[in-house]
Amino acid sequence: MWKFKPKGAEIPKYKDHTKNLPIERADSPAQVVIPLGMHIGKPAKAVVDEKDKVKKGSVIGEAEDGVSTNVHATISGTVIAIEERNTFRGEQLCVIIENDGTGEEKTLDPLESIDEETFSARLEEAGITGKGGAGFPTAVKYKTEAKKVGYLVVNGTECEPYSTTDYRVMLEYTEEILAVIAKIMDVYTLEEAHIAVEDHMDDVIARFEQFIQEKEYASIYVSILPSTYPQGHAGLQIRQVLGIEIETGQRSGDVGVLQSNVSTIKAMYDAIFSNRPFTERVITVTGPRLSSPKNLLVPLGVSVQSLLDQCGGLTGEYTLINGGPMMGKAFENLDIPVDKDTTTITALDKMEEPARSACIRCAKCIENCPVRIQPIHISNAYENGEYEKAVSLKSDICISCGVCTFSCPARIPLLDNIQKLNEKWKEMQDAKE
Ligand code: SF4
Ligand code: SF4
Repeated sequence: MWKFKPKGAEIPKYKDHTKNLPIERADSPAQVVIPLGMHIGKPAKAVVDEKDKVKKGSVIGEAEDGVSTNVHATISGTVIAIEERNTFRGEQLCVIIENDGTGEEKTLDPLESIDEETFSARLEEAGITGKGGAGFPTAVKYKTEAKKVGYLVVNGTECEPYSTTDYRVMLEYTEEILAVIAKIMDVYTLEEAHIAVEDHMDDVIARFEQFIQEKEYASIYVSILPSTYPQGHAGLQIRQVLGIEIETGQRSGDVGVLQSNVSTIKAMYDAIFSNRPFTERVITVTGPRLSSPKNLLVPLGVSVQSLLDQCGGLTGEYTLINGGPMMGKAFENLDIPVDKDTTTITALDKMEEPARSACIRCAKCIENCPVRIQPIHISNAYENGEYEKAVSLKSDICISCGVCTFSCPARIPLLDNIQKLNEKWKEMQDAKE
């Protein structure tokens, strides 16, 4: 067990709404709307037609060349349409399936042997994407192409307020998570694996320690990080846990580290040991404007509305967030389907545009920035139209954690301005090419 020094900002956790609620299977939906692009990279190519019968687990979209991944039916039934719908990634092609109520399932062929090639190929076949938020196809990361990797870091910190998805997955699937970690260590001949958690997760820490001891897993450690925000960013976490720096533009594999979210590891268990593709995930549906918050195991493609209904519905005036309040995005359309990287739906009190005042030069935004850039100066550069300053101020290394905006007593939209400056700078570079 390892402990690390605090870093970042103290923010309220608000996890008590759902932290002690076991995962419940969501009601079987009448239909699902499955986006073909639930990941970074190219959307999958539809390989079904209207009126086709599918089972839960049937491939409905095949990965395109490059960064892409397979998409599977998440219920059994009939394809009733393939059309553009509004999703969390904008308007895009979706496969709509009407439930036949049979629950018939198509599993993957069992693996005869597991080596590096078959392991990453299975992740691709199963359509697994990173579950921590960005939706990066996991197989791409695990195709190490002979690069030497020595470590695995499993992110279980779940630092975003309200979300308890990973917390419940760690408590309820402890053995499964450890089995996958042991398999990855074996396949990639790793030296160490670290499960990174926050220091308030006492019961999770105890469970991992118990099973590590009982099963005599060697070189698997629980790495306890402080409950300061943010702890979940891959680069920061690898530095905290292993003391290895990742330079701008590098991936974790470039410095010899495999890194995955704990819920992604659980999806790997389903694919490797149970031969099941990625068709469902745990989503925390929570917040003060919801009658009965829950941790639900949900088929991908169900509407947000159906999940809210299963949690007693909304009360009063609300703002809905896809994710948590720090990094999530507000949305209004309740028909939007949940997808592979939906971790949390948070119903907050209605948010009003905060009244902004002048900067009082308190330097809180600078002191709290986990990547040590200067949010106020970057924000000023945007507002003054000095877009070329993006380079000298290193605005591209911002990890969008939102700590600066959260810390600012003057209510200056620092993160918004930083993102807009980065967009402007990119547009200027694209125009030159
Ligand atoms: S500048 Fe970026 S990384 Fe730094 S605190 Fe603000 S959002 Fe976080
Ligand atoms: S936190 Fe806000 S008020 Fe303080 S220096 Fe930064 S921008 Fe100015």
